[in-house]
Amino acid sequence: MSRIRTFALQEAPEPAPVQPPKDGPAPDADEDVAEPLPAPPLTLALARKGSSYILVHPAPMSASAPNERQYAIINALVQADPFPELGEGGRSRLWLKIGAGKSGEQGGENEGLLEKLVAAGVVKETGTTAKQGIVDYPLVELLLPSHELCHACACCGAFETQKEEDDVPTRFLRCARCKQAYYCSALCQSKDWKATHKPNCLDVPGDDDASIEEARRRALLRLFGRTVAARVGPRSKMD
Ligand SMILES: [Zn+2]
Ligand SMILES: [Zn+2]
Repeated sequence: MSRIRTFALQEAPEPAPVQPPKDGPAPDADEDVAEPLPAPPLTLALARKGSSYILVHPAPMSASAPNERQYAIINALVQADPFPELGEGGRSRLWLKIGAGKSGEQGGENEGLLEKLVAAGVVKETGTTAKQGIVDYPLVELLLPSHELCHACACCGAFETQKEEDDVPTRFLRCARCKQAYYCSALCQSKDWKATHKPNCLDVPGDDDASIEEARRRALLRLFGRTVAARVGPRSKMD
């Protein structure tokens, strides 16, 4: 079984300290004005949990906090098109979650994330954006194959890990029928089957990423009360 792909996201350096105005008091000569150091790169993996794409730490940060893996949710559910059609070669596409700050401005949520993910080879831009509220969400295509993503257990929510833990295997097994639900243990699979999965588990005949991804997309659309036909059908004016 292949390993989870990890990548380094280079964090932007801290903003330079504000300089006193020219006619203000002269800076204290003894005070060392240190240049801000660039933050070390952050090694992350991309995880899938339900309808979310989440940047996670590849392994628990500390033994005392085995579940603190989540770094940031990176996809937005754009109302008009929450689960975009697959791209070229059946690649998944998602609306990248960015904040209201203008491009290049400080302070927006996930500021600079698009550039960082493109540089790390995780996504590529499609040139399409969707406006929702005051934000233009860019549509990006995922470059990682499914087997290099980090999957979450559909029952308990634990993430796959690069490091062996006491009772959690590094890679999970997936439901053989729908090929979309992953489980950390047989116990979690059995619990989830009884609680939620049974009516939602539909046979996916293909074993390739594109077939599985399209089945997942349709399942999510159904879950959100939409049908593919209604979404791509001709637009009719509401009278
Ligand atoms: Zn589990
Ligand atoms: Zn299933």
